[in-house]
Amino acid sequence: MLEPFAKPFYITQPLLPDINEFNEMLKVIWASKQLSNNGNMVKQLERELSDFLNADFLSVFSNGTVALQLACKILRLSGEVITTPFTFAATPHSLIWNNIRPVFCDIEEDTFNINPDLIEALITEHTTAIMPVHVFGCPCNVEKIQQIADKYGLKVLYDAAHAFGVKINGKPISFFGDISMFSFHATKIYHTIEGGALAFKNPNFKERADSLRNFGIRSLDCVMEPGTNGKRNESQAAVGILLLKEVEKEIEKRKEITNLYRQILENIPGINAGRDIDGVTHNYSYFVIRVDKDEYGLSRNELYEKLMEYNIVPRKYFYPLCSNFQCYCNFPSSAKQQLPVANKTADMVLSLPLHGRMLMSDVEKICEIIKAVSEG
Ligand SMILES: *Cc1c(COP(=O)(O)O)cnc(C)c1O
Repeated sequence: MLEPFAKPFYITQPLLPDINEFNEMLKVIWASKQLSNNGNMVKQLERELSDFLNADFLSVFSNGTVALQLACKILRLSGEVITTPFTFAATPHSLIWNNIRPVFCDIEEDTFNINPDLIEALITEHTTAIMPVHVFGCPCNVEKIQQIADKYGLKVLYDAAHAFGVKINGKPISFFGDISMFSFHATKIYHTIEGGALAFKNPNFKERADSLRNFGIRSLDCVMEPGTNGKRNESQAAVGILLLKEVEKEIEKRKEITNLYRQILENIPGINAGRDIDGVTHNYSYFVIRVDKDEYGLSRNELYEKLMEYNIVPRKYFYPLCSNFQCYCNFPSSAKQQLPVANKTADMVLSLPLHGRMLMSDVEKICEIIKAVSEG
């Protein structure tokens, strides 16, 4: 009998800056007496993030959800937007906060992303945009999505919350679509405790973003439009500046852990541990398996319960599907028979613990437990 972990082994653990370095940054902020409202730390963070992400223009926000809500305003979206049900609640919610109706499109089995072949059939006279999600950091079929958008005159707003640092054939992920949103929440691979950013190619978009996050104020005596408070503060920007120096190392460690997981789990029938995609620079922000009950012996839910008994705390991302939430299940596009792949996938997926502080022996033990529990 294998021993459970002594303490709960959570799905992730945030990267933390060196406390002394953070303290030095706080001293600078204290001396400046400017705590918020586009201070020096925020400006520095924006410059460094634009460089790191290769974004032409970039604005940071208090969180990714506000950034997504404001992106809809910047692109002047209305009516209906086609999106995926296999995502975090913030994706469709940001549309609703703009009085836009989310229209759910089924997903691809292998990438978990919106299936571009099914988008056209959902376009109506009310459709103004496509809002795909690079789920778990795996890029969407960006070429096909852009072709459809161009054909119908639609905007493309990417929820790139998981895709920090991801590239397609060397091109940064924010090169694609009209706007990309990144989340810097503490559970994400790169974080600023709470936070988010929008990346743009159009300088006018940045100008509007910077005004919208500050109540729509353009200058001391001009308020252009009803913005909100989406401002970043200096202390969180300082965390962001410090962690930007650590994130490449973190990605490298997570890559090693992912490779070890895959190498071991490959030998367990009914566990699909995914793979890298040719030409893609992945960020290894999540490690997701698919559990096939017929081959493995246990369902995803049964495996989840067993792992909890061993003090391993995985997550069923993204179960339940957004289309099955109380608030969206009565939408016409939420019908289960229209979303067969998403519904099936949501019952099979399990995100296992993955972060840079994990030991290789932790990975080996988690895999041994996954093997042992299926054998009874
Ligand atoms: C985390 C996340 C968001 C929201 O980001 P916050 O910074 O937490 O507001 C949006 N979409 C997806 C897919 C996410 O995972």
